[in-house]
Amino acid sequence: MERAALLRSLSCSSLACNRFYFRSSHKLSRSSFSHASFSSSPSDAAVRRNQHRLIGNLTRRSVLRGQGRLETALSSSLRFNKKFSTISARAVASPPTQPSPDVAEVSDEVAEKLGFEKISEQFIGECKSKAVLFKHKKTGAEVMSVSNEDENKVFGIVLRTPPKDSTGIPHILEHSVLCGSRKYPLKEPFVELLKGSLHTFLNAFTYPDRTCYPVASTNAKDFYNLVDVYLDAVFFPKCVEDFHTFQQEGWHFELNNPSEDISYKGVVFNEMKGVYSQPDNILGRASQQACSPFFSEATTCKDAYIIALFPDNTYGVDSGGDPKVIPKLTFEEFKEFHRKYYHPSNARIWFYGNDDPNERLRILSEYLDMFDANSTPSESVIKPQKLFSEPVRIVEKYPAGEGGNLKKKHMVCLNWLLSDKPLDLETELTLGFLDHLMLGTPASPLRKTLLESGLGDAIVGGGIEDELLQPQFSIGLKNVSEDDIQKVEELIMSTLKKLAEESFDSDAVEASMNTIEFSLRENNTGSFPRGLSLMLRSMGKWIYDMDPFEPLKYEKPLMALKARIAEEGAKAVFSPLIEKFILNNPHRVTIEMQPDTEKATLDEAAEKEILAKLKAGMTEEDLAELARATQELRLKQETPDPPEALRSVPSLSLCDIPKEPIHVPIEVGNINGVKVLQHDLFTNDVLYTEVVFDMSSLKQELLPLVPLFCQSLLEMGTKDLSFVQLNQLIGRKTGGISVYPFTSSIRGKEDPSCHMIVRGKAMAGRAEDLFNLVNCVLQEVQFTDQQRFKQFVSQSKARMENRLRGSGHGVAAARMDAKLNVAGWISEQMGGVRLEYLDDLNYLEFLQALEEKVDQDWAGISSSLEEIRKSLLSREGCLVNLTADGKNLMNSEKFVGKFLDMLPNNSPVKKAKWNARLPSSNEAIVIPTQVNYVGKAANIYKTGYQLNGSAYVISKHISNTWLWDRVRVSGGAYGGFCDFDTHSGVFSFLSYRDPNLLKTLDIYDGTGDFLRQLDMDDDTLTKAIIGTIGDVDSYQLPDAKGYSSLLRHILGITEEERQKRREEILSTSVKDFRTFADAIDAVKDKGVAVAVASPDDIDAANKERTNFFQVKKAL
Ligand SMILES: [Zn+2]
Repeated sequence: MERAALLRSLSCSSLACNRFYFRSSHKLSRSSFSHASFSSSPSDAAVRRNQHRLIGNLTRRSVLRGQGRLETALSSSLRFNKKFSTISARAVASPPTQPSPDVAEVSDEVAEKLGFEKISEQFIGECKSKAVLFKHKKTGAEVMSVSNEDENKVFGIVLRTPPKDSTGIPHILEHSVLCGSRKYPLKEPFVELLKGSLHTFLNAFTYPDRTCYPVASTNAKDFYNLVDVYLDAVFFPKCVEDFHTFQQEGWHFELNNPSEDISYKGVVFNEMKGVYSQPDNILGRASQQACSPFFSEATTCKDAYIIALFPDNTYGVDSGGDPKVIPKLTFEEFKEFHRKYYHPSNARIWFYGNDDPNERLRILSEYLDMFDANSTPSESVIKPQKLFSEPVRIVEKYPAGEGGNLKKKHMVCLNWLLSDKPLDLETELTLGFLDHLMLGTPASPLRKTLLESGLGDAIVGGGIEDELLQPQFSIGLKNVSEDDIQKVEELIMSTLKKLAEESFDSDAVEASMNTIEFSLRENNTGSFPRGLSLMLRSMGKWIYDMDPFEPLKYEKPLMALKARIAEEGAKAVFSPLIEKFILNNPHRVTIEMQPDTEKATLDEAAEKEILAKLKAGMTEEDLAELARATQELRLKQETPDPPEALRSVPSLSLCDIPKEPIHVPIEVGNINGVKVLQHDLFTNDVLYTEVVFDMSSLKQELLPLVPLFCQSLLEMGTKDLSFVQLNQLIGRKTGGISVYPFTSSIRGKEDPSCHMIVRGKAMAGRAEDLFNLVNCVLQEVQFTDQQRFKQFVSQSKARMENRLRGSGHGVAAARMDAKLNVAGWISEQMGGVRLEYLDDLNYLEFLQALEEKVDQDWAGISSSLEEIRKSLLSREGCLVNLTADGKNLMNSEKFVGKFLDMLPNNSPVKKAKWNARLPSSNEAIVIPTQVNYVGKAANIYKTGYQLNGSAYVISKHISNTWLWDRVRVSGGAYGGFCDFDTHSGVFSFLSYRDPNLLKTLDIYDGTGDFLRQLDMDDDTLTKAIIGTIGDVDSYQLPDAKGYSSLLRHILGITEEERQKRREEILSTSVKDFRTFADAIDAVKDKGVAVAVASPDDIDAANKERTNFFQVKKAL
């Protein structure tokens, strides 16, 4: 769950379950490297567009960012550069060698006195940390205390929580323990922390076998506040005595009036219904059960393929909960699960950062001393799955829409359980490399072969996963024709066989090696705290009673592996692994998924029938009692916490808050006539750069091709280099290059910002290679590969489908944006749903038409791509951004100059005429789903509202109170939130996995009155202000700082303005809330509504309010 992640990074305010969502961040598997910030997929366009809003500070971080891609590093480095560089700089930073840093230590005596015994102590060079493992003597709780100079402090408590069935107990408990505790007896202390702390991370996740509660902050006082609330929540939650919490977070029967139908409600119940509506997730569940990630898009299935792989142990059931099984869960079982597993004896606790390690033990001892040892640790041990003696095949159905050719909507995925016991670290690392070699980039042979076969549109299955007790491997294709299923299976097997026989060429090995090494050393975890990434990595072994230090120390096994490859060759290293773990391994499960247009309806009908039967068997008294209980629950949910309870949650005061915004150094200069921004920041010898081109001279009809143009630049190849070679070169010489469009409104200006950005990073000594490669990508790539382009189109199609199902709120937000401002409209042209594009063709149809055009008029498309290049590439309107330390900045300048000299010098940019059509009708996009996404928005600048910093505080408050209480808590949606794009003035409301439709719109419309009637004491207001500052000051690694500064420059946000907004935020008063009520009424009165919803709900809505929605089919 991640209410926090949702709010902070993903943006949907909910307790969500990030279950596994973060896995890719800390493992050595391919996934760690492929979802990097530097990816170029067109779907990222929308994502990028929204990132800039971070700078305005009120983020929409979310909306389209659904994926919340971790900014890990797609990288690679260059050690063995033969062709490109004349100097021989280091490929990657050298490992830190210094002894222990200057940090406080805990003396044995102090530890002893506090009840802890020191088990082991090590200096971890890889993260420049001193790590000490303690055991709490009385209970056996284990504690890793990691000390270093990182100000972003992290705490986490992890419990082993293997479920026995699919009722979703661990997941429901994860939600529930944060709903009030002994010391913090309010409805949701978690939400209070979201509102009023400076956390850089606040969340919880349920895995198939464990539950994690992590927090992070750079402010020590804030950090210990968070730790205390979390410890109290875990060990002393109110939910074990409070049936209402169980009902609210888990499930309950709802009956508003005895004459109506009974329905199921519950936050987790609805969340999991959403998960089970997505084909990739179902595939995952069928094969792995339990670890379906929260957000969809292409990464999903990788996270999930257990049930069939693990029929005999805990992984064979869904820790998240199967909506069909969740209602079997009783309150007694729920309480018992907490009693048993949420006990110090079963806990592993992590501290990390620059705080005082003595204080950590002191806080812990207060809690742990209250318990005695128990026997849970032996009962929660995960038992390994024995290997099958022969392969298994499973056929499942998934709910599909009626649109498109159903015959081509099958999926097939092959999954292996690699071993009957955990693997040693070196084998895991080697498998991680193998995974990257096979699947890590578009040029990797297994990925490339599958996509080029034309048998399917997109890869499913995530390659190697090694986060559970036993590692798995899974790979397949989606959108496969019924007749081609077998061909896909054969192709996978024959390609793997070929790879075992022929192995990989040395450039590919070098590229993968450097990518992984760069990534490990750069350790760029994006907005995810580094200490948390390390915790999850360590936990991957620690949770199974193995050594928690070992996973942190990659240096030795990495060197050993490199030496082995150098000595014995790649074939001797990798081929035996493919043979042993995959080809000759009988524990294989093949899963075929068939589309079923009836399934959604049948599931819904089956649920209704159960409920109807239940109702038929109830007496009038029973019904009256149920209606009363429903009412009672609602009343409780809607009753605000008493002020004294609210005050129990510790908070900072305004004087703890810095009065100035975070300063990012910037020097604006020019090189050879082109504007260059330089940010002098310590980056550990990595150079980060962005080259920005003006897109405003592009002809309107070319806009839709821009994302495909960007992908072509990176994936088509030049006259001399095939795309595989080009990709490998990028992998060997740099830390990654990406290209994507960026658009945004600029406050106070008619014309939007509309650019193409090329992003790259490399070790500073490779600056020349980096700029040479950027130049090569921009100028030398040829648009000649018709077949590859066709694949890009198919991939876009598959991505769009995923987006519609998984991030319906993102789709709704983008549609509303497109209706309300030009930047949003442009964005839709470049990869949105684009329903009105070309005479009401929907987006998928548009792509289908394009697919045909590739066959009929490839020359035309190719010359359009060339025209885009010509229109964009010019020194005129170009801007370069550099982030590194001073010395490296200076050294890079000459390469920047050389690069700029090679750019064409076109005449001044002439703005193209774009005929932005902004139809303002309400719209409902039909998809086969059991849950809806409901949005409503208006441009409040148009009604005269003038931006004031208080708007940040107010919209955050609306999300965290009004919408949270009404849309989520009593409405039963997984999330409800609002967003204010301060650049365009668009204020939008959105819900996520929502069982309602019109009812949610009514709640949005009530926001103005909510603000007018708001009764807010000083304490609450202060918390709201501090929480807002926490968002504004969100933690950024140096590359992100440089990037934010660039975007501020592009959007004309000055330091003076930032200071002014900050002062306005800090001085927000209750009066501001009332004034804002009038502005926000514009959404009620003039707003446009967009819903992504099920056909039944849309029908019902249009019956209730005649033709309220214009209906569009999308899937
Ligand atoms: Zn959840």
